[in-house]
Amino acid sequence: MIAEHLRLPPGPVDLSALPTDATPGFDGGKSEGQEALGELGEELSDLQERLYAEGRSGGSRSVLLVLQGMDTSGKGGVVRHTVSLVDPQGVQVTAFGSPTEEELAHDFLWRVRRALPAPGRIGVFDRSHYEDVLVAKVRALAEPDEVERRYDAINELEAELLAAGTPVLKCFLHISPDEQRERLLKRLDRPDKHWKFDPVDIDDRQRWPEYRAAYETALERTNTEVAPWYVVPADKKWYRNLAVGLLLRDTLVHLAPTWPSTDVDVEAQRRRLLDEEPVR
Ligand code: AMP
Ligand code: MG
Repeated sequence: MIAEHLRLPPGPVDLSALPTDATPGFDGGKSEGQEALGELGEELSDLQERLYAEGRSGGSRSVLLVLQGMDTSGKGGVVRHTVSLVDPQGVQVTAFGSPTEEELAHDFLWRVRRALPAPGRIGVFDRSHYEDVLVAKVRALAEPDEVERRYDAINELEAELLAAGTPVLKCFLHISPDEQRERLLKRLDRPDKHWKFDPVDIDDRQRWPEYRAAYETALERTNTEVAPWYVVPADKKWYRNLAVGLLLRDTLVHLAPTWPSTDVDVEAQRRRLLDEEPVR
């Protein structure tokens, strides 16, 4: 299982010791990886549909996929290439940007709770409550005491979610600073990507060591048994897409959603159609 390769071991975290360009748990290269993702689509679709059916039939379970990583690490790419393999009606994607005034007037988890997936859905967070212990720390948007409190609040929320039937799959998309530089340069080379370019991304990039330290602390403090972190090497886009897809598949398999039973007398309904007068 891919999880064994990507699961962050408990204890102190040293991100510089974890690879960004490896392909743990997968032997092939790019074309095999893309093919494997395509094949995974069917399985993901089937599992998602079962979960959706369960949700429509009174079940309360759902899944929450949390995507974190520096700019250009591919959070949006995972949504486009992996999450898109399932029926969009079963998915709720939320991208978290700088909090609005209204959001700032509430506890940091307020906007997160409002975005949690409905029963039967796969919720996807493109950035998440983790920004409140990452950018909030690096840019001193919150007092150190408040950041401290937030790690525990996050752990409590995630434990509560699992207990209520919503496992939280947390993926840190790990890219190298060099790869990010290439990707940002590409954005500048392409007029059709300029809209994505935010000069703040370069400011953030120049604080890479601070972000790395903030991530290391956040990962360590929230790498719980109920909601462990997976560190996905993300310099290779195809591997990143495949790895998150495999983790999502395994999360759904573990949940094992089953087709709801029906009160409908299937035989009787079949007969009605077979025996009916021609409909014009
Ligand atoms: P993007 O993902 O490129 O659309 O950028 C979203 C921006 O929102 C990033 O610069 C994040 O750092 C910022 N952001 C997201 N959540 C928070 C938060 N809780 N506090 C402050 N900034 C945030
Ligand atoms: Mg950005």
